[in-house]
Amino acid sequence: MNSYGLKIWSEDNFFIEDGLIKLNHASKPAFLDIYKNLKSQGFKGPLLLRFPHLIKKQIATLFNTFEHSIKEYNYKGSFSGVFPLKVNQVPNFLFPLLRAGKKYAYGLEAGSKAELVLAMAYNNLGAHIMVNGFKDKEMIHMAFLAKKMGHKITLTIEGLNELETILEVIKETKMTSPDIGLRIRLHTSGSGIWAKSGGINSKFGLNATEILQAFKILEDNALIDLLRIIHFHIGSSISSIQTIKKAIKETGNIYAELKKLGAKALDSINIGGGLGVEYSQFEKTKQYSLEEFSNDIVFLLKEIALQKNVKEPNIFTESGRFIAASSAVLLAPVLELFSSEYEYENLKLKKQNPKLISELYDLYLSLNKKYALEYMHDSLDCLESLLTLFDLGYIDLQDRSNAEILTNLIIKKALELVNIDDYSELKKIDEKIQEKYLVNFSIFQSLPDLWGIDQEFPIMPISHLDKNATRSASLWDITCDSDGEISFNDKKPLYLHDINLKKEEYILGFFNVGAYQDTLGMKHNLFSHPSEVLIEFDKKGQMKTNQALQSQKIIDILEDLDYDILHLEKVFKSKLDDKSYKILKQYLEENNYLKTICS
Ligand SMILES: *Cc1c(COP(=O)(O)O)cnc(C)c1O
Repeated sequence: MNSYGLKIWSEDNFFIEDGLIKLNHASKPAFLDIYKNLKSQGFKGPLLLRFPHLIKKQIATLFNTFEHSIKEYNYKGSFSGVFPLKVNQVPNFLFPLLRAGKKYAYGLEAGSKAELVLAMAYNNLGAHIMVNGFKDKEMIHMAFLAKKMGHKITLTIEGLNELETILEVIKETKMTSPDIGLRIRLHTSGSGIWAKSGGINSKFGLNATEILQAFKILEDNALIDLLRIIHFHIGSSISSIQTIKKAIKETGNIYAELKKLGAKALDSINIGGGLGVEYSQFEKTKQYSLEEFSNDIVFLLKEIALQKNVKEPNIFTESGRFIAASSAVLLAPVLELFSSEYEYENLKLKKQNPKLISELYDLYLSLNKKYALEYMHDSLDCLESLLTLFDLGYIDLQDRSNAEILTNLIIKKALELVNIDDYSELKKIDEKIQEKYLVNFSIFQSLPDLWGIDQEFPIMPISHLDKNATRSASLWDITCDSDGEISFNDKKPLYLHDINLKKEEYILGFFNVGAYQDTLGMKHNLFSHPSEVLIEFDKKGQMKTNQALQSQKIIDILEDLDYDILHLEKVFKSKLDDKSYKILKQYLEENNYLKTICS
């Protein structure tokens, strides 16, 4: 039975029982029941479920693991974390995060003015705010205002010009400056698809010469005590611990050098993000555990501090993907299987059929368990020949239709008959017998990283898990874009079930979609965000569905694009009778996704 690599990627957050995937928490509801519950509340189309308990779990795991390493190595520095808002800024994610992080003084990292505004308004008081990214004078002044509000805030400078601007703002406003951090341009670089943030040619940070210049500028202006922290970020989801260790050694030594030069207040290293998340359903791609990550960092920093005789630095982390990824799951119903056009009822055999069609029909009738796969191969060859005959004008459209139907019926029946255990037999013919599943969602909106950078996400049906999945599957979304497809990949094959959608629903789950996908997603074909719901539990373990956010109405999507809605309505009103206009108006009040047959 296929468990879709659950053991590899799910971190025990989910489990399979009675053919259903269930949440491993509180009353342990099945995803299918959550879906049905929400559908009965009137939600249509794809649904994004957010699980605050998984945000809490990740924050607790991160802090507890580092605390453990700190104890184990008798490390003198402290551990703190900030959540990089870039990873997820939506309120249904952020508020649960802030609630869960309060006890750890978990703060926020902002990389733009809008994100800084969010941090200023909502950050837990006493928790840190880190400001990274390119900054203008306005943004720097905003950080001063945050400081005035009582926030512990650090401006990490990406270039010397930002330092000059900070000096200007101090002179002009006489306000107390936030702490200053230096982003270091390491020669260490990451690996993998997100590894562009490190290395000598990276977009961000100060090189060795600039670090020395920054130090001098601060000293000359008697502001060296503002320098509290040095920072690096070598990319997201770093797959190898070696890269991280190298970066820590480099940064640890820069820290020690700056201390020796006289950076008295410097007491912290911010190790940025990079903590990996396992997305693969086939093999572990992340080659280290969180324990190894935290042990290595604490151990290395301790060693460097000892060797260079400086104080052990406090450690900050900005890993956000690790915190957010598991907390959201997208459920999207399958609308159609393409082979459903090939039903037996549609077979219209003639009195006199071409020889190959008769052969196909015989294959179909005599199909048995023993020769199922052999007959399937034969039918594929037959179809090939028949299509050639059609091109040459020897058979007609009805013959061709019969040939396609019979071949599909043979494939279906053969796959039912054989016991597919190791899939090795199936693998040989996967390409030819693929089934296309039309799914009610937009890849551009909900899985932009899959479209943009070929990022994998765990995909599986939320039911039927006690039955063999025999169809090698390609997924099509409902956008009119041929890129809106997850095509079958025989290296990482997705097998789904043969379903009669007229009789039962078939819902696919897309997992680990909580990091980056929400705001990177785009409104291609004007599909806006799916409806979303917070799935929470009361003290008795009873499920509560909260903070529901319906997918945008068509009329609102158009208004967002700055169309004049009144004008639109006027156009329709003038060209339609009252009754028709009212019906159209109702349609405009619905979301843009398709309604499933069963709804
Ligand atoms: C994007 C970013 C992060 C988040 O990294 P993840 O590994 O994706 O969590 C952290 N720090 C900085 C400076 C970033 O730009």
